[in-house]
Amino acid sequence: MTDMTVIPSIGAALPATPFHARHLIGGVWQDSADGAVSERVSPSHGVVVSRAAKGGKTEAEAAIAAARAAFDDGRWSGLTGKARAAVLLRVADLIEANVERMALLETLESGKPITQSRGEVSGAADLWRYTAALARGVAGESHNALGGDMLAVTLKEPIGVVSIITPWNFPFWILSQKLPFALAAGCCCVVKPSELTPSTTVMLGELLTKAGMPDGVVNIVLGYGHPVGAVLAADPRVDMVTFTGSTGVGRAIAAAASGTLKKVALELGGKNPQVIFPDADLDSAADAVVFGVYFNVGQCCNSGSRIIVHADIAEAFTAKVVDLSRKVAFGDPLDPNTQVGAIVSAEHGAKIDGYVQSAKAAGAKVVLGGGALTVPGLGAQFYQPTVVTGVTPDMAIARDEVFGPVLTVLTFTTLDEALHLVNDADYGLSAGVWSENVHTCLTFARGAQAGTVWTNTWMDGFPEVTFGGVKQSGLGREIGRQGLEEFLETKSLVMRIGRTRANWVRTA
Ligand code: NAD
Repeated sequence: MTDMTVIPSIGAALPATPFHARHLIGGVWQDSADGAVSERVSPSHGVVVSRAAKGGKTEAEAAIAAARAAFDDGRWSGLTGKARAAVLLRVADLIEANVERMALLETLESGKPITQSRGEVSGAADLWRYTAALARGVAGESHNALGGDMLAVTLKEPIGVVSIITPWNFPFWILSQKLPFALAAGCCCVVKPSELTPSTTVMLGELLTKAGMPDGVVNIVLGYGHPVGAVLAADPRVDMVTFTGSTGVGRAIAAAASGTLKKVALELGGKNPQVIFPDADLDSAADAVVFGVYFNVGQCCNSGSRIIVHADIAEAFTAKVVDLSRKVAFGDPLDPNTQVGAIVSAEHGAKIDGYVQSAKAAGAKVVLGGGALTVPGLGAQFYQPTVVTGVTPDMAIARDEVFGPVLTVLTFTTLDEALHLVNDADYGLSAGVWSENVHTCLTFARGAQAGTVWTNTWMDGFPEVTFGGVKQSGLGREIGRQGLEEFLETKSLVMRIGRTRANWVRTA
């Protein structure tokens, strides 16, 4: 362990009292009717960060009723796009003014480095700002070449009441990939954050009220997947459910939603390959591989954790990656120098380790890391940067989403073979190619089964560029123009505008 870069506890002052997170239902902040509470203990610092109301069926149903009433009386959808945009812009300003407060709780609840939490919150503010423009651009099409005196137009209308269920890995960013887009479309929402990271969602609720969001348009219910999430997915008063999380829960949500055939949008897991050709800028590729696998301790749907390296350079490239991995700073998430923080929970750490140990047992070689990492002053809820070679495509570590700082290395010799390895997967979220040859890059991009293909870069994203997965990585798209369309229904209006008659009935 001595050859890794570990940042010890900086002994930073922690909040004096835990954050009190409550439900927001119909504009009223409230605890659960039965007084149930769940505490979130910081995975990095071991202190209670938040005490959250633990909702049940009663709170979930009350929140749905509040959203339904708000949608049906048009208090939000009836506003002009300009008026909705004004509120969204005020929310963006308020988020920017509260980055420090929100980032501190995001870090303490999730274990991620403070610099990354700041980036997540301020980046999310930009998503809110972007959606203000979308709110003013809700528009359908006109068809004026239908012959005769026919004219048709399509109207874009908000889909209605939307349930939003989010995970713990990027709580505020993922919420902001959904909520402001739904609001720009004119929808009313019920939000359920992960039970592990409720606080920034609740803080946002406070900012929405300050920004002038009418009561009942955004409701927040805190609690677990069962019963709260399950009610939000199944209730007939909900028109759409949008979910980000694991593929297994995504399936359960789709099944629950099928009772009323409501629209379902799913952003699920990934097992994302990066293919490295010998003619690539190998230093840049190695740097991006290290970023792609250790960012957020590998707890990213977009983790680039499956590298597929040309056999001619596999040994040298792996050595480069291992060398860089030792220089990545793991440790106290409150230290601004830290690049990689704590694993979200002890159970999750055990799951990560299970994959590494089973790969070892199956004949793979752990060339770096492969166990817990103890950070002085903080304990061992950290996992070592880990690189596993000698992996075969059938091993669980090569197929499943490990969701930790664990890189697997496979090799290839031809572009076709690389594409076969890339596509031999249940998932299809993102893929990457590293080469200086434009033909190689474009052929790869056309052949890879993925929602996003990065070329000579990894994990860049923009509010303008849509995101989502194919295969078992999801259904539907988020952000960009398409991120708005997901929350709109299309209604066709067909009109006869002249005085001609259809004359279907022969009267003569
Ligand atoms: P999870 O699926 O365990 O939980 C996500 C949310 O669903 C939580 O709020 C949870 O309380 C709720 N939930 C659990 N069971 C439910 C049920 N039966 N009905 C309704 N809601 C239920 O996921 P997680 O562990 O919080 O997050 C990690 C997963 O999220 C990973 O698989 C990761 O790949 C995925 N993810 C995907 C993307 C993407 O954009 N594709 C982004 C981030 C994370």
